[in-house]
Amino acid sequence: MSNEHMAELLFPDVNQLPADIYSLYPPRKLPSSALVTRFAPSPTGSLNIGGLYATLISERLAHQSNGVFFLRIEDTDKKREIKDSIENIIHSLLYFGVDFDEGPLFSGNEKGAYGPYKQSSRIQIYKVFIKHLVLEGLAYPCFCDTDDLQKIRINQQKLKVTTGYYGKWAKHRDITFQQAEEEFLNGKPFVIRLKSTGSSDRRISYHDLVKGPLEFPENNQDIVIMKTDGLPTYHFAHAIDDYLMGTTHVIRGDEWLSSVPIHIQLFETLGFRIPEYGHIAPIMKQVGASKRKFSKRKDLDGTAEYYKEQGYPGIALSEYFMNLINSDFEEWRMANPHQSFRDFFIHTDKMNASGALLDMNKLNDVSKDVISRLTGKQVFDHLYTWAKEFDSELYFLMDKNKEYTINILNIGRTMKKPRKDYAKWSDVLPMIAFFYDELFEKDVLSGYQLPTNVSFDVAKEIVLGFSKTYKFSNGKDDWFNEIKELAGDLGFAKDMKQYKANPDHYKGHVGDVAMVIRVALTNRTTTPDLFDIMKVMGEKRVFERMQKFILS
Ligand code: GLU
Repeated sequence: MSNEHMAELLFPDVNQLPADIYSLYPPRKLPSSALVTRFAPSPTGSLNIGGLYATLISERLAHQSNGVFFLRIEDTDKKREIKDSIENIIHSLLYFGVDFDEGPLFSGNEKGAYGPYKQSSRIQIYKVFIKHLVLEGLAYPCFCDTDDLQKIRINQQKLKVTTGYYGKWAKHRDITFQQAEEEFLNGKPFVIRLKSTGSSDRRISYHDLVKGPLEFPENNQDIVIMKTDGLPTYHFAHAIDDYLMGTTHVIRGDEWLSSVPIHIQLFETLGFRIPEYGHIAPIMKQVGASKRKFSKRKDLDGTAEYYKEQGYPGIALSEYFMNLINSDFEEWRMANPHQSFRDFFIHTDKMNASGALLDMNKLNDVSKDVISRLTGKQVFDHLYTWAKEFDSELYFLMDKNKEYTINILNIGRTMKKPRKDYAKWSDVLPMIAFFYDELFEKDVLSGYQLPTNVSFDVAKEIVLGFSKTYKFSNGKDDWFNEIKELAGDLGFAKDMKQYKANPDHYKGHVGDVAMVIRVALTNRTTTPDLFDIMKVMGEKRVFERMQKFILS
């Protein structure tokens, strides 16, 4: 009876029972093999790559099994909340192609029938369960303030016993209704604690999806489940939400591994089915010869946003992460170059239990592969969207020269072995700048970068000679023959063999002649195929540039 009084005293406004809540969260209608997973970030900043990695695993596990992946915002710690985090997180998830079926939307609305998906909107739900635990004698109010807790700790330290609020040290564990009422009516702040039935002498064993079989001592601490402000702790909200929302598999960072005994105890006390857990080691950063965790403050490249700003296509990072998740992905990708990475089935037991290393070279290679599979038009669309946000100069150029830019981006792309030169969108402009007249003009102001073995006078002779015979409509063979003829006329060897047999006899070889034409048109010594470049530049521009070179 006194438990009932206690529950009423502490929660007079809570009128619902757990059964009322259960009726709002019926079991999901899914096949038994379907997994329900979630990403549950706290809105305390932007998404970090470790979070993105764990999220991709959760999303894949759900969707590869025709299950459900949802987003839940854990915003019960208002002090740590950072403005716009939720929007940033949603933006990042969408950019990296991690699609959630349920959760908060930009509009402030939500999708899905198992919400609300923000914990701050679920306070009443938690209270129903907390009140019920008090009523059952499984939880109790604790009026200890920091001084009281400090005293307990000092005594425990003196006696060299485990510190904390447990067993005989838990001062209010057996608080009577009368004591509680007195404190309550005096307005003393209180928390609600779980009355632990665990003993540190007993061990629990559980099988982690990633780390394999593990053993822990049971939790014997009377942990706080509701804070003085009436909000639930992370542990409690986790149990309630993941049960009601039907989560079957919890994939999260291994900083939560030590909380597993608490979580198992909470699920058991509440009579809930315990989800499967998989704990992931943090992604590591290579620094010189050693590796370390990404630092939240120091490492800009530890945030998902960084990769978006640099212009890595969202799917490139996801595709790269697939390599880290299961190392046999690489082999699969080679055998299936045109399939979506989503067709690969991931396995948690094949994951690396210790921290995966973020290898930038490998990421760049994967990203180059991903971009090489796109058409010129697709590259244009991605680049245009990226430039709009991150590079106004490029955006302006693309906007003014849409067709021209698509043709530029198409060079070397439609063949069997497409070019693999861009790893990220910020790589593109420096490589194609010479195509745009305004940038080319600026570049040649400081002079043409001729190869050292050809003088400027001879170079002008080459370009003049070429401009006289050049026909835009010529095919590649005729075009190359023209260059060969010109080489011969001007004292250059027509082919390498000739040149090598008698180098002193020639000013150079046909390659040098082509190089001069390349420099006149692009002011570069390395470019994609020169014939293709001239086709894209168009007749008028090619003649203008040759003229400009001759007159310079
Ligand atoms: N809100 C917790 C965090 O941001 C979620 C942990 C979990 O996935 O259970 O770390």
